[in-house]
Amino acid sequence: MLGQMMQMPLTIGSLIDHAARFHSAGEIVSVETKGGVENTTWGEVGANARRLASALRKLGLEPSARCGTIAWNNRRHLEIYFGVAGGGFVCHTINPRMGPEQMVYVINHAEDQVLFIDATFVPAAGQLAPALKHTKHIVMMGPRDEAAAEAVPGLKFFDELLETGDASEPFPELDENVASSLCYTSGTTGDPKGVLYSHRSTVLHTIVGNQPDALNISAVDTVLPVVPMFHVNAWGVPYIAAMTGCKLVLPGPNLDGTSLVNLIDSTETTLALGVPTIWMGLLAALKETGSKVPSLTRTVVGGSALPPSMIPKFAEYGVDLIHAWGMTETSPLGSVNQLLQRHTALTADEQAAIRLGQGRAPYGVDLRILDEEGNILPHDGKSQGDLQIRGPWIVDTYFGKDTSALTDDGWFDTGDVATIDVEGFMIIRDRSKDIIKSGGEWISTVTLENIAISHPAIANAAAIAALHEKWDERPVLVAIKSGEVTEEELLAFYKGKVESWQVPDRVLFVDELPIGSTGKVQKNKLREEFGNVLLADS
Ligand code: AMP
Repeated sequence: MLGQMMQMPLTIGSLIDHAARFHSAGEIVSVETKGGVENTTWGEVGANARRLASALRKLGLEPSARCGTIAWNNRRHLEIYFGVAGGGFVCHTINPRMGPEQMVYVINHAEDQVLFIDATFVPAAGQLAPALKHTKHIVMMGPRDEAAAEAVPGLKFFDELLETGDASEPFPELDENVASSLCYTSGTTGDPKGVLYSHRSTVLHTIVGNQPDALNISAVDTVLPVVPMFHVNAWGVPYIAAMTGCKLVLPGPNLDGTSLVNLIDSTETTLALGVPTIWMGLLAALKETGSKVPSLTRTVVGGSALPPSMIPKFAEYGVDLIHAWGMTETSPLGSVNQLLQRHTALTADEQAAIRLGQGRAPYGVDLRILDEEGNILPHDGKSQGDLQIRGPWIVDTYFGKDTSALTDDGWFDTGDVATIDVEGFMIIRDRSKDIIKSGGEWISTVTLENIAISHPAIANAAAIAALHEKWDERPVLVAIKSGEVTEEELLAFYKGKVESWQVPDRVLFVDELPIGSTGKVQKNKLREEFGNVLLADS
C-alpha cells in the first residue's frame, strides 16, 4: 500500500455533531406555532437530535424507517431533521398545503411509521389518521396538550418523547449512501413522486451549495429561510447553517410581509431566502411599515422566475437579489447567479440584467441543452433547448420505482427550456409544458409576464397558451391589477418590447391567480379555465 487517507462517511449526523462541538453557543431563533419566540443554540439542538434518535430506536424503529413531518420552520422541526436522519431513519417532509387525498397518498406511499405534526395540523391529523396504513405513532411537536390528546387518539408529545431518549448515545455509524430524507414533488400532473436523498448527496450539496459563488453563508450571518422546511429541505439551509454555525431564524407559520419585516428587524437578519411571491409581500410591507430593513444585505430568490422589477425595488433598501434555480429532483441547487470579476465594472442596470438569469452551475452540477431531435446545442446564449442535468445530488430513481428516471446516457431531463451562454450563465426561458407554440414559433411566457409585471398598474400576471384555430396556440395574459389600466393600454405597453407577433391576443383581468402548494402560479389551472377563450371569440 502506498499510504491512505482516513475513510469518514459524509453523514448528516456529522454535520450536527460538528455544530454542537464547534459552535454550540450559536443562536437559533424559533417563532413558535402557538405564538411567541423560543431561543435555543446549536448545542441544544445537537443534544435534542441525539435524544430523538435514541428515543426512536427505543420505539422500535428499524434502520431507514420513514418519519413524516407536517410542520412549519421551527426548532423542533430542525431537531427532527437531524435526529431522524442522524439516527439512520428517513425524514419525510410533507407539504401541508397538499390536499388531504394527496397527503394520505404520500404518507402511505412513503410508509411513514411516525408522523410529527405541528399544533396547527392536529385537526387534520385526526381526520387523516384512519386512512394511514403504516403510521404507528403520531407525535405533536410540543409539550403535552390535553385538548390535542382528545382530538387524536393515542397522540404522543414531542417533549415527552425526547425525555425517553439519551443524549449521550452517539449516532449510529452509517454508510454515507443510505437514505436520509424524502421529499415529494408537487405533482401538478399525476401522483407526486418521491425523491430520496442520501447522506452523501446531502453533505456534498451542503458543501458546494455554500461556496462563495453559491449561497455564501458564513458564521457572521443571520439567516432566515422563509422557504419552508417541507420545500426541498429549505433549499439545504438547515444543513449549511449547522456546518457554518450562522445564527438561524426560523419564521414559524406567519409568512406575511409584515411579520417577516418585524422578524428581520428584531433578529437583524442579513440573508433571507424564499420564492418571489414572498418577496412581493415583503416589498408591500416595507412600504406600509416604513422599515428600511437596515440589517438585510441579500435575499436568495428561487422556485420560480425572478420578476425583473424586483431587483431595483430591493436595491432601494440596499439588498442584493441572488437568483437561484433548482428542483426537488436536484436537492435543489442546480445554479446560482453571482457576478464575475469582469461584471464589477458594469453599471447597476447592466449588473441587474445579468442577475435576472438563473446563473451558473456550481462544481458537481453538469448542464446541457438539447433540441427536439435530441441534438446537443451549443452554449452560445441563443440556442434554446430542453435542459438536462447530472451530478451527485441529482435524482436517479424515484422512491419506490424500479426503473431509473434518467436518459439512456445518464442525464435527468428537467422539463425546463433554457439557454446557456459561453460563460455558463443559464437562463430558464420556460417550462416545456407552459411555453406557447404559435404558428410553429416559440413564445416565452416568462418574457410576457415580466413585461406585464413591470407595468406600474399590474400586481401579478401569468401568460398562457390559448388554443387558436389558425395559429394552434396564441398567448393570453391573465393579470391582477394594482391600479387603473385597460386591456388596450396593457397590450400597447408591449410595443417595442417584444416582436409584434409575440404580443398577447387578450388580457383577462382577475382578482387572484391560482397559487400551488410551493408558491408557484398553477398555469395548468389557468389553461383549463381560459385555454378556449380565443376559440369562443373566433
Ligand atoms: P419544484 O421541484 O417544485 O421546486 O419545481 C422545480 C421547477 O421550478 C423547475 O423545474 C423550474 O421550472 C421552476 N423553477 C425553480 N427555480 C426557478 C427559477 N429561479 N426561475 C424559473 N423557474 C424556476
